[in-house]
Amino acid sequence: MARVLTVLAHPDDAEIWAGGTIASNVRSGGSALICSLTGHPDSLRGREAAEGAQALGAELVLLNQPDRQVTITESLVKSLGSLLLDFQPNIIITHWEEDSHPDHIQTHDAIRAAIVATAGRSQSIDLFLQCDTYLGTGKVGLFTPELYLDVSEVWPQKLDAIRKHASQDPEHYVEITERQCWLHGARSKVRYAEGFRRIPVYGRLGGALHQLI
Ligand SMILES: [Zn+2]
Repeated sequence: MARVLTVLAHPDDAEIWAGGTIASNVRSGGSALICSLTGHPDSLRGREAAEGAQALGAELVLLNQPDRQVTITESLVKSLGSLLLDFQPNIIITHWEEDSHPDHIQTHDAIRAAIVATAGRSQSIDLFLQCDTYLGTGKVGLFTPELYLDVSEVWPQKLDAIRKHASQDPEHYVEITERQCWLHGARSKVRYAEGFRRIPVYGRLGGALHQLI
């Protein structure tokens, strides 16, 4: 039973690129915490994030950083470090280091710094993963997953969670997600899959995702 922590920039990112993995883990008896760097609990986007997290069976933390201006700061790294120590995840999912959205890159760098800052004090991390991105396109070309998780069984739940973000034109994201996860599924011989790449933690890459969830 895994403890999955997603650290992503925007309130709907977890649903779009890791929602199936979160829901599958919760369905298997594990737990999940979604951390969105932007969003405030009292804002519309914050309320939609709460509904999305609930639809996946995850807990939610919003760190209220400014949208489109996420910047790695000492206090942000400290907040993420506290989250690591409190939740003790063994799987962490963040954005791709070559993502084309500046907020996503800052988020990637911030959780990376928090992992280094809490090394030895938080539970050992089995997998540190980077997720797909908008249209699968980053600064250096296309995102090529190396690990896949079959999310076919929780597919309706993932789409339901994306649709909770009503202010974000969710059908647009449903359509993109359907195509991305279909392609990942075709490559891994299942109906729908989410795809990830591993980030080494002190030289260790970790094992197979499906054996942990
Ligand atoms: Zn985003």
